[in-house]
Amino acid sequence: MNGVAGTNPTQGKPLRMATTVSEKQLNALIADLRALARNLWWSWNPPAQEVFERLSPYMWERSNHNPVDVLRWISPEELRLRLRDPDLRTKARSACAEFERYLKAKHTWVARNVPLFRSGPVAYFSAEFGLHESLRIYSGGLGILSGDHSKSASDLGLPFVGISLFYRQGYFQQQISNDGWQMEKYPSSDPSRLPIAPVVDARGRTVVCQVEIANQVVKIQGWTVEVGRARLYLLDTDLPENDQRYRDLTAHVYGGDQWTRISQEIVLGIGGVRFLRALGITPVVFHMNEGHSAFLTLELLREQLKAKKTPAQAEATVRNQCVFTTHTPVPAGHDRFDYGLMNAAFPAFCASSGQSIDQVMRYGRVRQDDYNEQFTMTVLALRMCRNANGVSQLHGRVSRQMWRNLYPGTPVEKVPIGHVTNGVHIAGWTSPTAARFWTERLGVGWSERVADRKFWQKAVKPDSVSDVELWGLRTTLRRELVEFARKRMREQSLRNISGDIAAFDDILSPETLTIGIARRFATYKRAQLFFRDFDWALRVLTSQDQPIQLIFSGKAHPRDDAGKHFIKEIVNITKRHDLFGKVVFIEDYDMNVARYLVSGCDVWLATPRRPMEASGTSGMKALIHGCLHVMTMDGWWREAYDGRNGWKVGEDTTAESEQLQDDLDAAGLRAVMENDIIPLFYKRGKDGIPHEWLKRVRHAIATLVPAYNTHRMVTEYIMKYYRPQQHPRGK
Ligand SMILES: *Cc1c(COP(=O)(O)O)cnc(C)c1O
Repeated sequence: MNGVAGTNPTQGKPLRMATTVSEKQLNALIADLRALARNLWWSWNPPAQEVFERLSPYMWERSNHNPVDVLRWISPEELRLRLRDPDLRTKARSACAEFERYLKAKHTWVARNVPLFRSGPVAYFSAEFGLHESLRIYSGGLGILSGDHSKSASDLGLPFVGISLFYRQGYFQQQISNDGWQMEKYPSSDPSRLPIAPVVDARGRTVVCQVEIANQVVKIQGWTVEVGRARLYLLDTDLPENDQRYRDLTAHVYGGDQWTRISQEIVLGIGGVRFLRALGITPVVFHMNEGHSAFLTLELLREQLKAKKTPAQAEATVRNQCVFTTHTPVPAGHDRFDYGLMNAAFPAFCASSGQSIDQVMRYGRVRQDDYNEQFTMTVLALRMCRNANGVSQLHGRVSRQMWRNLYPGTPVEKVPIGHVTNGVHIAGWTSPTAARFWTERLGVGWSERVADRKFWQKAVKPDSVSDVELWGLRTTLRRELVEFARKRMREQSLRNISGDIAAFDDILSPETLTIGIARRFATYKRAQLFFRDFDWALRVLTSQDQPIQLIFSGKAHPRDDAGKHFIKEIVNITKRHDLFGKVVFIEDYDMNVARYLVSGCDVWLATPRRPMEASGTSGMKALIHGCLHVMTMDGWWREAYDGRNGWKVGEDTTAESEQLQDDLDAAGLRAVMENDIIPLFYKRGKDGIPHEWLKRVRHAIATLVPAYNTHRMVTEYIMKYYRPQQHPRGK
């Protein structure tokens, strides 16, 4: 989280002995703090983070804001001593009390609105979860969405368990070499330094289940992650009983070849169901977040067949329990396995379910008896669920088109794939500075009302927040970002020994219109579109009276050389003499970097090639900070943009060639920058404040914050897809 080290007024004062605290009270408080550190609730509650940060600003930053690590770093004796400081103790107590209140709350949204939700939890399967920067089990947008979904499920009081894998080495950490090439590092994480705990039974023995891969038995253990009132189980094959090659199976996020991929997906889907069974958990719904976990339907089917159901009955029962969200509008983005691979991976499983591999293959093919067709996870999921959805209006439409062959005789608009547009967990993405700002104006608990339109309309009225205050927030956040960027660039250059480190003390300006471009460097995201007409870019970046500055960040997939070349191109631009300090690239884009960027930038720029961006979420994180969003008419923006709450790039159409589309969109970007964005930002009143710009900011907050958050999104999933009474389970 945005560190505020050094701004703490009590630092440096002598520790005062307070006579009012008893040993017993101290012990209780320390136990509460240790419990607090082990529930990620702190990750969306800045006052709780502040307590850990104050204990050791050094370790807080060093550990990428990990309270468990901070508490290991501070000796028990020091902790006792420090907590005698009344101010720190009061803050610690209040954070712990708030946490306890949260855990015990009875009148949650679900309790008030969907009381039938009693019989069991929603089980949400996802290959990655982006919960916090210190828990590196995510690679990008899909993981962030899963993490935000879990946090809102907790806030709303939805009975919820998440299932994923424990990636001991996680997704890679990115370093950029001197010549601009991405290098990948995979540091191993030590479970004892993470907010996770091994899953044990009532007698303290490790809970283990197993799956069969090829003809081998692979044992699986689990780790719990507490996310407020929700819980995640992370499956892990790194057990001494397993063959070495299976111990490494869950080491990396999307690591390795096709064999690793199919094996990981067997562990996630089949292992996930078995692990829940081993714990005695009976979900009311299995939600497959993307096709990676779709093998879970084969396991549910196996259970039914074992119970002597006919295949038709068994399929109907499975379908009745499953919902599926697809995320990929690109055909090549869907997991596909060929017959040989399936045949090699599934023999033992087939034997135990009494099905042949040919029968299993039929579930994953569009044309079921076409032996040349590969097994597609999305097809399996679509065939075995009662509801399916895309993640924006446009993506729903693209998905219906893409999978219409699965539903012969159904007109494309009737293909049963709907949409629930993505959102973000606002509290988790709000920088501490912005959180303080809104709490002072809207009162504690404002973040629980994120989905309330009337609340936000009122919240941005000038009598609630004046232009001076709003501009004050913007300039504070921009300065914090500039400071963060200078520090990070300095560290990057120290490592690369690339000359003049002090030069980085003057990069970027806290007054300049700041544009953020951060994303995965997938080619369709076109991070370099800004530079398509380089002379133009040079001119606007170096303008004397109305300058702009660009901050880039993002990773390319380790096997995506095209993406790495894009990074290299950008990094080379940052090194040009005429652009030095005006264009920067921050290494190792993660949730922490993202939070600084979405809060400090004035404009968030996304230029995906339509219709490749299923939704996109990073722009949604920017809104609460008064940052304005600019995007091509793709994903969520196509339905969110109303002409006054940000800007669009290009038109709501798809050109016949990529080349033409890129030319049109680059021209559109230049036009909106030059005609609208830059002049409006620099159009100042006598008081130096851009009042018209702020009008847009107010309108963006009022119209977009209440709609593009995960409280609204999870509520929609509950009402449309999860609610048990709407879909009585056929038994
Ligand atoms: C939000 C986020 C993403 C997803 O952003 P998109 O808008 O989908 O590109 C990816 N990575 C990180 C670290 C994020 O915080």
